[in-house]
Amino acid sequence: MRDATTCVITPVIDESGFKALGPTIHRASTIVFEDAEAYATRAKRGPDGFSYGLYGTPTTRALAARITALAGGARSYLVPSGQGGNATALLAVLSHGDHLLLPDTCYPAMRSFAAEELVRFGIVTEHYDPTSIADLKSRLRPETALIWCESPGSSTLEMQDLRAVARLAQEAGVLVGIDNTWGTCLGLKPIGFGFDIVVEALTKYAAGHSDVLMGAVTLRTEALAEKLRGSLGRLGIGVSPDDCALVLRGMETMPLRMAQSTRGAEALIPLLQASPAVDRVLWPALPGDPGHALWKRDFTAAAGVFSVLLAPGASDRLNAALDRLTTFAIGASWGGTRSLIAPMSVAPFRSVQPWTGEDLVLRISVGVEDVADLQDDILSFLSVLEAD
Ligand SMILES: *Cc1c(COP(=O)(O)O)cnc(C)c1O
Repeated sequence: MRDATTCVITPVIDESGFKALGPTIHRASTIVFEDAEAYATRAKRGPDGFSYGLYGTPTTRALAARITALAGGARSYLVPSGQGGNATALLAVLSHGDHLLLPDTCYPAMRSFAAEELVRFGIVTEHYDPTSIADLKSRLRPETALIWCESPGSSTLEMQDLRAVARLAQEAGVLVGIDNTWGTCLGLKPIGFGFDIVVEALTKYAAGHSDVLMGAVTLRTEALAEKLRGSLGRLGIGVSPDDCALVLRGMETMPLRMAQSTRGAEALIPLLQASPAVDRVLWPALPGDPGHALWKRDFTAAAGVFSVLLAPGASDRLNAALDRLTTFAIGASWGGTRSLIAPMSVAPFRSVQPWTGEDLVLRISVGVEDVADLQDDILSFLSVLEAD
């Protein structure tokens, strides 16, 4: 063999006797076949076979298998972001003339995806009050094809009675799906309630280090899985095995990081509640929160992600208070090792229950720093907010 040829043919190494605990990273666009017959029949290999890098490598399948093991259901597929999971799940199951029900408190990009994209394909979207089964029921139409849920809701953390929604969907013969990013595949198992589609932004707690974007879509049945698999292939959507390896690694400590994040939230919330600059803390794991009973019934964990409503006048000093923070970083997204704080606007993203009061919600995501440092930081933040 001449040098240029030797340069492009990877030497075969005997791998017997080598076994690592971490994920093996298989990078591939092309997958080669043992013979001409295997190549000719590659399309018949089914969802567990390999035919082209876009449709899966052993590394991407390892992560998908882990998500399915935790979430339940038939199969999971990986997409390049959490919102990518929401959008591709809807595209796979909705058709022209269908009616979609979205909670008023859904992730803002879902609201605009329905208003800007789905509408162009003749899919009609209606929002419903996530806290009222009667409101949801009254909006069902013969053309309703999917009820979407998100519990707790984005930014304001309203809880939904997910078991009742699943029952209603089943009775009406309508698909039901959920954005389970806050609950995660550890803290909430909606497939067990009868949900057909579960999306999780692995970007948050699963990846856990603020350096990867990824989403997972889990389907209750093989028929739905086949629908999404076909759709993703035609849309040309797949994920990088390197990113999957980061998520596989991140997930090894996910239960520990989530528990620490919850403990941090529990230590910070009383300081916030005691401050005259704070009106309310929104967190369903908090006894006294309107959604607490539902959280207790359905969840086995709480994300250390909560929202704070400020007392009148306090927001005038918010920027100065944010600039005082040293352990917390200012930024969006959540579920990483670093604690984050981000002022959010809510009013433009509510239509069923218009947002009254100041259009400012402070979202806090607690990381894994020493809780005492986080408490010191919040106290100095509050001292600026409370000034004069
Ligand atoms: C962050 C988030 C998403 C989007 O995830 P990305 O990976 O950032 O696209 C979707 N839904 C919820 C509830 C989220 O918090």
